[in-house]
Amino acid sequence: MPGLAYSPPTSGTPIVWKAQRLQVPDRPIIPFIEGDGIGPDVWAAARRVLDAAVDRVYGGQRQIQWMEILCGEKAVNAKVSALPEETLEAIRTFRVAIKGPLTTPVGGGFRSLNVSLRQRLDLYACVRPVRYYAGTPAPVKHPEKLNVVIFRENTEDVYAGLEWPSGSEEARRLAEFVTRELKAPVNPEAGLGLKPITRVNTQRLVRAAIRYAIDHGCPSVTLVHKGNIMKFTEGAFRDWGYEVAAAEFGDQTVTEKDLWDKYDGKMPAQRVLIKDRIADAMFQQVLLRPDEYSVIATPNLNGDYLSDACAAQVGGLGLAPGANIGDGVALFEATHGTAPKYAGQDKVNPGSLILSGGMLLEHLGWGEAGAAVQQALEKTILSRVVTYDLARQLENAQEVRCSVFAEKIVENLASLA
Ligand code: NAP
Repeated sequence: MPGLAYSPPTSGTPIVWKAQRLQVPDRPIIPFIEGDGIGPDVWAAARRVLDAAVDRVYGGQRQIQWMEILCGEKAVNAKVSALPEETLEAIRTFRVAIKGPLTTPVGGGFRSLNVSLRQRLDLYACVRPVRYYAGTPAPVKHPEKLNVVIFRENTEDVYAGLEWPSGSEEARRLAEFVTRELKAPVNPEAGLGLKPITRVNTQRLVRAAIRYAIDHGCPSVTLVHKGNIMKFTEGAFRDWGYEVAAAEFGDQTVTEKDLWDKYDGKMPAQRVLIKDRIADAMFQQVLLRPDEYSVIATPNLNGDYLSDACAAQVGGLGLAPGANIGDGVALFEATHGTAPKYAGQDKVNPGSLILSGGMLLEHLGWGEAGAAVQQALEKTILSRVVTYDLARQLENAQEVRCSVFAEKIVENLASLA
């Protein structure tokens, strides 16, 4: 590995991207980044469960050929950069990869490695499925009613990094320009940020969300925006979302307006309902009428808030899986950080990376194995054999280490019907 020209396992074959679809061989090569801090613990647990699930479902017919690639502290220790070019190239080449959490070095002008990975690979959709796992302590009465997949735009909005501090030359000049040229008075002492939202980036995100809904038989896609206030960014997101639905999926979708105008409120078969909600109302809706929502597509900032709020609602912040997906490239990841105080203690909950791995299996088209991962994890939580974070919230729980939790999931995989 040092020197870093990766040698892919000869027992495996690369995944191919053709006609907008993945072509997955029975022994796909899948790169993994172990991650920093608790990364090695949660990765070892996740790999154990994923291999067991594939073996259980396909009985040796299919098998992932894992290939380690470096990023973060392990790359720095191998005396290469924190994000080596070969690592990016390996993810591009092999199409699907998975990562543990990575430390963002503080100071020194370092950019978050997670943000760099997303940007360099143009992984424009942050996909966060949120559902309830029976037995998990949750703050609402019916956490099981929420079952959504959030597509959060990953590349623009106020996350574009276009901001300048109050009192800076740049902020003063921008305020002066807007005041003078655009006749919109801005206080010259203000800190300023820009919120770019484009048609092309909105439409590729909404397109991915609608395709997902069609492929998975989901009943609706909801565009969540704050277009009543930010008309030309968030409002445009809504308009461009409806536009792509009509232009590219006209015979597979129906808008909420047409549902009432043309279909008397009765949903036609084999169609996905396209609707929109204003962001603040949506936070009420997921609490009050959670079962009316399925796939959600939203700009970056709304998506950031909504993903964590929904995950908290089902008691699943520590279990929430995620993926960053672009055209033909996908990187699955644990959504928590490196929790450095627990590093090397074999203590933490590996659920987030295990479930992200389950998403990866589904992304490969190995949905039966992905479902088996979810069922076995749920069975394990229901049996109250859990890691410390869940044990402290559950009565009569048996607290186990990270690796033992994984072993229990593997045992439960073996006993699935
Ligand atoms: P964090 O690593 O997520 O940890 C915060 C707390 O969350 C932990 O102390 C622990 O709570 C709980 N926690 C996190 N993961 C857990 C798990 N698997 N099982 C059980 N409990 C878990 O957040 P942070 O301390 O703010 O960030 C640490 C580093 O991670 C930073 O360098 C940050 O940049 C990085 N980070 C990376 C990612 C990523 O790679 N995607 C995401 C977020 C942060 P208790 O103390 O209550 O036990």
